[in-house]
Amino acid sequence: MPHILIVEDEAAIADTLIYALQADGHTTEWMTLGGSAVERQREQPADLIILDIGLPDITGFETCRQLRRFTEVPVMFLTARNDEIDRVVGLEIGADDYVVKPFSPREVTARVRAILKRMAPRAEPAPAATTPAPLQLDTLRMLISYHGQPLTLTRHEFRLLQCLLEQPQRVFSREQLLDALGVSADAGYERTVDSHIKSLRAKLRQVSETGEAIQTHRGLGYSYNPEQA
Ligand code: CA
Repeated sequence: MPHILIVEDEAAIADTLIYALQADGHTTEWMTLGGSAVERQREQPADLIILDIGLPDITGFETCRQLRRFTEVPVMFLTARNDEIDRVVGLEIGADDYVVKPFSPREVTARVRAILKRMAPRAEPAPAATTPAPLQLDTLRMLISYHGQPLTLTRHEFRLLQCLLEQPQRVFSREQLLDALGVSADAGYERTVDSHIKSLRAKLRQVSETGEAIQTHRGLGYSYNPEQA
């Protein structure tokens, strides 16, 4: 639940804000002095600060300046006068937004929500699979591991398996696989690919008897199927 620190010396205004923000799912804390708010933020950081400009000790501007020395917490100003608005809009004090008094509680909660949304770290996409794929390709070290065991491959076997691994499920024709090897598709090329595949399968089988990582597609070519590896 986002925690909002309200810094406002007028109780009636603070009450309105507290009520509206709590109804909108936030927790709140209310302070009347700018100096106390700065100290509070050091000890127990809020997620957002609503800051009145006319405060009894230091101005909201000065409060914000002091906050900015150690935190990037979003600050939303409450302004009452036009000359204050000009300074806030000029953003010389690093405000994130402002509302002009008198304001509607709905306006404040909408702006608070928008600022918090803007600040929220982008959600990381969930990892696709929790278990690592049985075949792991390490292009930097030119190494392919199968169930954690590094395979001893010839250059052609490595290139061929790499080509299949990089696009799981894609069916590669023998010509395409030869291309990956940098071998021209002249007479007898089919047997060249087939013999590399045969030798690759033998090496994979030494690690896992049951795996069928490389699939044969009759008349078409070969593919890598991670599910059966
Ligand atoms: Ca005030």
